[in-house]
Amino acid sequence: MRSISSRISVLRESIPEVNTIPFRYITPDEVREKGRLSSCATPTREDYGGKAHIKLYDANTDNFYEIARANDPCGTKCIMELIKSRMDVPEDIEAIIFAVFCLLHEAGHYYDYQKDPEKYKSNYVEACPNGTLEDTEAYRNRPLEKGADEYALERLADALKILNLEMIRQRLSE
Ligand SMILES: [Zn+2]
Repeated sequence: MRSISSRISVLRESIPEVNTIPFRYITPDEVREKGRLSSCATPTREDYGGKAHIKLYDANTDNFYEIARANDPCGTKCIMELIKSRMDVPEDIEAIIFAVFCLLHEAGHYYDYQKDPEKYKSNYVEACPNGTLEDTEAYRNRPLEKGADEYALERLADALKILNLEMIRQRLSE
């Protein structure tokens, strides 16, 4: 099955909840260093001039998904299981769905931070789970992560509709 792919930058520009948020594209070196392809930077925990923004690695979604699975197999698996508990995930758009979820998850953090910056001061630890499934589950169960996941899950189907994947799929099969 031919998978449908897009650039992360195109997804970012197309999703209304995401395209108004300040952002910065990160380099492959930063991805290697931090092990993450997307994150939400907030002034209380990082120094970059005091403005919250989303950090993103701009790649093709197939590539983005592949790197995510290589860098953080458990985390990526947990996310996909979470998504699959709420909606059908056709194989040919799995990578796009994962990427859109990541964008919406970071948007969730961004708006949550705008509402209650204090929460991010006291509660947020940058530490990413290291490898084990137990670690990963504990990380995703933290209130800030759960909140961002919930934000993303609630909007995922609508965001995918806006991207009109069905139209792209039909074009590919013609
Ligand atoms: Zn998060």
